[in-house]
Amino acid sequence: MPRIETLAVHAGRDDFAELGVHAPPIDLSTTYPVSDLDVGTESFDALVGGAASARNPIYARLHNPTVGRVEQALAALEGTEACVAYGSGMAALTAVLMDARSRGGHVLVVRPLYGTSDHLLASGLCGLEAEFVDAGEIAARRRADTALVIIETPANPTLDLVDIRAVVAAAGDVPVLVDSTFATPVLQQPARLGASYVLHSATKFLGGHGDVIAGVVCCSEERARPLRTVRAATGALLHPLGAYLLHRGLPTLALRVERVQANAIVLANRLSEHAAVARVHFPGLGTVRNAHLVGAQMAGPGSLMAMELRGGYAAAAAVMAKVRLMTPAVSLGSVDTLVQHPAGLTHRVVDPEARLASGIGPGMLRLSVGIEQVEDLWADLAQALDGVALSAAA
Ligand SMILES: *Cc1c(COP(=O)(O)O)cnc(C)c1O
Repeated sequence: MPRIETLAVHAGRDDFAELGVHAPPIDLSTTYPVSDLDVGTESFDALVGGAASARNPIYARLHNPTVGRVEQALAALEGTEACVAYGSGMAALTAVLMDARSRGGHVLVVRPLYGTSDHLLASGLCGLEAEFVDAGEIAARRRADTALVIIETPANPTLDLVDIRAVVAAAGDVPVLVDSTFATPVLQQPARLGASYVLHSATKFLGGHGDVIAGVVCCSEERARPLRTVRAATGALLHPLGAYLLHRGLPTLALRVERVQANAIVLANRLSEHAAVARVHFPGLGTVRNAHLVGAQMAGPGSLMAMELRGGYAAAAAVMAKVRLMTPAVSLGSVDTLVQHPAGLTHRVVDPEARLASGIGPGMLRLSVGIEQVEDLWADLAQALDGVALSAAA
């Protein structure tokens, strides 16, 4: 089996030789001719029933070959049989929740999570009762109608790590979903540790260039079938142009992850020595929950960090206003560096008490480090931090 750096370049391209092409063809057809009705009927049944492909694609809500290729590529990278792509990470999570709803009404969730995932679960929009627990409480809180356990590691935005193997053991026969967006398959492959579903906001590192919104779930073929049925029924599709861009980003994934991680290690060390910074949450500094999993569950510390500024909200706002090279914006995992304020932006939709309990305070900024030259990044951060207050205004 080729290693991940090689798979990232070659996976999902198996039919190129036969097609006589070197780049993925973009198929924009919405419908496909059905000249043999027997084949059409059989294909329709297969696709609505959750098959990955059929002799006739019938209609683009049921199957698209450009999307199918990037799904194959991501299944290869995560070491799963299948992958199902959606129009966003949230659409991907929604599909898993809709399927879980058919198996039971209760889900166990470990906080913190991406803000909108927390909001989707807490709001009960998908008809599920979400119970928020510590990872250590899962075995005790499991019920007969528990349909899913949900964790995110590294977690957004505190970078706390969750022990995937321990959660899988505690969950017993309840499937575990791991949101692995922050880790990428280069650093962590949750399915190999027993997770049933690996979720990515492919908008982030997988796409990698800030120009495509997409989400994927990697899992067994058996679990993928109902997820495809949900996609066909709800229409939460990834457009073939988006699938092309996502596939276009993959060959550089391992290179990008190595570079941004190396940059992040330098910045995290310097930030933790800076007078304006009270604390840096970074798995590589040992300052997050379960940091011992770096080097084991996760091959490296990754490239996301959160810093708590001594000057609180005012200092955080000043840094967002003063950065010149970095972009003050939500999202992450792009080639360029982004800095954002979780309490004011991404995690605004989380219950304020739960937000504070997760350690997301007014002085916290989250940094997603890009591939720029690290000294240029440090110069920008240093000038933005220069002169910010060293204590919060009373
Ligand atoms: C961005 C993100 C999501 C949501 O994905 P979208 O593509 O924005 O819908 C889910 N989980 C994590 C960890 C994220 O960073």
